[in-house]
This record gives sequence, structure tokens and C-alpha cells, in this order.
Amino acid sequence: MSLRLRLALFYTAQLTAALLLFSFLTYGALQWNYIREVDASLHSVAWRVAENMQRFWRIPPLRSLADRSTFILVRTDELVIAQSSDFGTFPVPAEARGGRATYTTERDVNGEPYRLYTLPVYVNEQPVFWVQVAQPLRLLERVLTSLRPILGAGMAGFALLTGAVAWWLAGRAIAPVQRVAGAAESIGQSADLSLRVPYSGPRDEVGRLVHTFNGMLDQLQELYGRLAAAVDAQKRFVADASHELRTPLTIIRGNIDYLERAGTLDPEALSDMKAEAARMSELLEELLAMARADAGQKPELEPLSLGLLVRDVCHKAEALPHQVEFRLELPPALDRVMVLGHEAWLRRALLILLDNAFKYTTSGSVTVRAGRQGDGVVLQVIDTGPGIAPEDLPRVFDRFFRADPARSRGGSGLGLAIASWVAGLHGGRLTAESTVGEGSTFSLWLPIYRPAVPQTNS
Ligand code: ADP
Repeated sequence: MSLRLRLALFYTAQLTAALLLFSFLTYGALQWNYIREVDASLHSVAWRVAENMQRFWRIPPLRSLADRSTFILVRTDELVIAQSSDFGTFPVPAEARGGRATYTTERDVNGEPYRLYTLPVYVNEQPVFWVQVAQPLRLLERVLTSLRPILGAGMAGFALLTGAVAWWLAGRAIAPVQRVAGAAESIGQSADLSLRVPYSGPRDEVGRLVHTFNGMLDQLQELYGRLAAAVDAQKRFVADASHELRTPLTIIRGNIDYLERAGTLDPEALSDMKAEAARMSELLEELLAMARADAGQKPELEPLSLGLLVRDVCHKAEALPHQVEFRLELPPALDRVMVLGHEAWLRRALLILLDNAFKYTTSGSVTVRAGRQGDGVVLQVIDTGPGIAPEDLPRVFDRFFRADPARSRGGSGLGLAIASWVAGLHGGRLTAESTVGEGSTFSLWLPIYRPAVPQTNS
């Protein structure tokens, strides 16, 4: 059953029940009031007769006391002594026989209803005579009889009218809800999360419903967008990884073919194959590192002396092929700076920055500088290389991004992505500044570790 029909039925039932109650009350009140009036008139006539009898020991002229619709009768237990007109007799009710004045409703031989008042008259403290006064209730019965169909028809008409009005009102009341439901349904069918339920009404219950629904769609759209971007990134990652792995494999297979055909172990081909195999394992290691990072694996961190670590990495980096001067500007205070870190990953990140600087700088110098910045320490690798174009700068930390389209300098495009992940792992950050033709500066900021000093009670 629809909500509209339920509402309409509910209102109709309520109003019809109220009208039914009102009709019963009116009907009952009319009947009760009429009979009360009749009873009062019967009572006054009967008492006048009884008083006369008791005071003067005679029955007053009944005809003069009775009007056109009143009948008076005086009787003993068995005998009618006097009556105002010849309208027959009524039995003396048992209660009146016992000595109590009684009102009853009787019917005569023709079935006509009468209201009857029977008043005992005492002689020597015994009820000996009874004065009976009656009035026909024909008029009341006629009124009530004609009122019943009027009330019934009125009730039916009212129920129908109420039903129609309630149906119309319920339709109007739930029209906004229906509009909202329709819009929500079409959004669901089209699966277009950019659609919104239009609503320009007041901020009532329906307004709040629409607002909440649209808010939910906002959140869903945002979540869906993020999910789609993550899936896209994942797809790109897999495609790029496969592409990167395919190149060294092709070179190795080409060399094997060549060696097969030549029938000799050409040292140059062998060294090519060795270099490509090494590149592949390096790439695989980097892919593994990225996969671990994606899986949310966090290696354990421990307090480390940053100065020692940086000096050692720079010392080892001297062995990397480079064409320019390598300068260290590390203050002695750096040796006392502790960070909470993972030694192998920190080394790796620094080596990536140094390797890039050496790789891309052909003249000038590469400088490693360190200093305090806020609550942390910043390590900078500054080169005087070709620099990075402003449009490429924000993307250098993306996986597989390489500004050099020819990819002539080797590398996978994963180095800075890994270094940036390492920075995040330590609660730090990696940033880059660069000017084309002047050089680049990569800054790794790490928070300083300050162990909590145990409180001593002196
Ligand atoms: P790659 O393995 O290609 O070096 P990275 O993620 O380390 O990958 O670097 C991404 C890209 O950023 C590089 O391909 C290069 O174009 C640019 N880049 C990184 N470091 C430097 C630098 N010191 N000078 C100029 N360009 C750089």
C-alpha cells in the first residue's frame, strides 16, 4: 500500500470516527433532552392531581388539567376511577406498585410509544391510588427516525469528501518526497555521481533529506574519484614497470641470439648482458620497495646519529662516477643530531639524490649541506646541473617520471619517488627547487629525535 493511500485512509478514518462520535452524541442529547422536558410536564400534572386528592379527598376535573397530548388516569390496583379521555389503560409498573413514583416508556395496542409517569397516592401510609400521566412520543420517534438516514447519508458523504480531500492533501504533502525519490532513482540508474537532486523548497524534513542525500553523493563522488585515480595510478605503474623490465630483457635476448649465431663468447656482449641484468635487479628491487610502501609496510625506526650516517654515505658516493667537484658543507654539530630512522632506507634516499646530482651535472659542482630548520634538520644536495623545467618540477616525485624524454641517462624514474616515500616514513619531507640552466637543490627535512629524559626525584 502506497504512503499516499495510507495517509489518506488514516485521515479519513480519524475524521469519520470523530464525526460518528459527534452524531451519536447529538442523537443521544436530542433524545435525552426531549424526554426530560416531557418528564417534567408529566411530573407537574401528576403532582397537581395527587395533591388535590390528598388535600380535598376528591379527584380534580382531569379533562381541564390535560392538554391535547396529555392523558391522565387515576386508578386503584384493579379499577380505573377516572380518566381524562378514553385512551385505554397502562399497567402499574412493579416499582410504582411498591410505592415509588416511576417513569416508563410504554407502547399502546397500536404500537405507538408513550412516556408514562406513575405516581402512587398514599392513604394511611399505604399506596392505594395511582395517578398515571402519559404523553405520546410519536413526535420524538418521527424526528429520530428521519434523523437516522440523514445522519447516515451525511456520514457517508462526509467520509467520501474527507477521503477525496485527504487523498489530495496527502498527494501534495508527499509530492516533494516523490520528486526526491524519482531523482534519486534516476541517479542510481544512470550511475552518474555528478548529478544532484534539485530542491528549492524550505529547509524542512524533505529539505534536510535532500541536503543529506546530496552530501552523501558529494562524498561518494570524491571517494570514487580517489579510487579511480588510485586504480589509474596502479595501472600506469604496472604498465611502466613492464615497459622498464622489457627493455633490458630485449637487450639480453638480442645478445644471446648474437652469441648463438657467432658461436663465440664475445666479451662486449657478455658485459652488456651483465650490465642489463644488474639494471633489471636494481629495478626489481625498487619495484619491490614501492610495492612494500604501497602495502603500508613500515620498517622499524631506531635512534641514529645523522652526522655519522651522512658523512659515511658521502664518503661512499665519492666512488660514484662523477665529472664535477664534490663539496661537503657539514657542520660538526651535525654529529650530535639524532634522528629516529631506518639506516638502510636513509642511506638509499641520500644516495638517490647524490646519484641524480652526479648523473645530471656535467660542469660546476655538487654540494651537500646540512643545517637546523625548525624542529628538524635539513640535508641539501645542491648541483649546478641543467635544472628542471618549472612544469616538470612538481612531477619529479611521481613514479616513473623522467624529464628527459629520450631517457638517455638511464634510470627508472623511481628514485625520487622512493626518496620521497623514505622522507614521509620518517615524518619528514623531500622538496625540490630548480632553475633551468643554473641547477637544482633537493632538500630532505627530518625531525630531530629528542629522547625523553627520565624524571629523577632528588
Ligand atoms: P631517474 O631514475 O630517472 O633518475 P628519479 O626519480 O631519480 O628517476 O628522477 C626523476 C627525474 O627527475 C629524472 O628523470 C630527471 O629528469 C629529473 N631529475 C632528478 N634529479 C635531477 C637533477 N639533480 N637535475 C636535473 N634533473 C633531475
